[in-house]
Amino acid sequence: MATLGNTKNTIEVLQKYNFNFQKKFGQNFLIDGNILDKIVDAAEITEEDCVLEIGPGIGTMTQYLAERARRVIAVEIDKNLIPILQDTLSSYNNVTVINEDILKVDINRIVEEQNGGRPIKVVANLPYYITTPIIMALFENHVALQSITIMVQKEVADRMQVGPGTKDYGALSLAVQYYAHPEIVVRVPASCFMPRPNVDSTVIRLTRYEKPPVEVEDEAYLFAVIRASFNQRRKTLVNGLTNAGNLGVSKEKIMEVLEQMGLPLTIRGETLTLEQFAELSNRLLEARG
Ligand code: SAM
Repeated sequence: MATLGNTKNTIEVLQKYNFNFQKKFGQNFLIDGNILDKIVDAAEITEEDCVLEIGPGIGTMTQYLAERARRVIAVEIDKNLIPILQDTLSSYNNVTVINEDILKVDINRIVEEQNGGRPIKVVANLPYYITTPIIMALFENHVALQSITIMVQKEVADRMQVGPGTKDYGALSLAVQYYAHPEIVVRVPASCFMPRPNVDSTVIRLTRYEKPPVEVEDEAYLFAVIRASFNQRRKTLVNGLTNAGNLGVSKEKIMEVLEQMGLPLTIRGETLTLEQFAELSNRLLEARG
């Protein structure tokens, strides 16, 4: 089977199998070899690595990964792609294709079964509708992983790496930055895909911290506080936290905690740093008793 990552061979495969793109699965296949090289380079794949690829499509990036990695596990939801993958990946004996929805499989079990629980590297040209849930699932479930190198919508990549005081700053920025160091790898124009998406894309690498940069008593509570703070962006932090109803602290206690932290009662959540959210969550937890 010929190498994918160019227009000619991609069209040949699609025609051979009479493949119809499914919009609901966010199917935009890469046809640019330079971008593929950049993704695999940025992921620093070596022959020691076990890679989890989410959404292999017709196997374009899978071929690039299989050339460099020890093992590749590719999870694809669309059953119509499975016979195509068997064909395009037939010359590799280090690839396992799993026909599942990545949001429904137990990724920890896959890592245990396929890599003895040792950390994997995640690489994906993600369908945009699952970007946030999949990243959150990988981090919150503490999947053993070293890094996530992913193609996402340009705006989402921006959200992952900005700090307080910008309109893009929110729960996703804080979650990503609690678990990992984000770095933009390359901007990718729509012309690098077939069919062309309506948005521009960016490859971002998230390198997992061995230990989060801030210490919290209770991670789940930190994220409950963060979500409450951004749920009602135009409200003050005090009102956002009070209205959430799941933090177990009264408005008076919240105001007391902000005062202890030297923060004005009119402050909005979007101006707080990760360090301040960590302190706020620890103090609220203590106030809750
Ligand atoms: N990796 C290929 C490439 O770069 O050319 C395809 C990328 S395409 C943007 C996204 C792929 O993810 C499609 O093959 C789609 O069928 C698959 N996909 C969509 N939702 C999925 C899910 N929930 N679980 C697993 N795969 C999914």
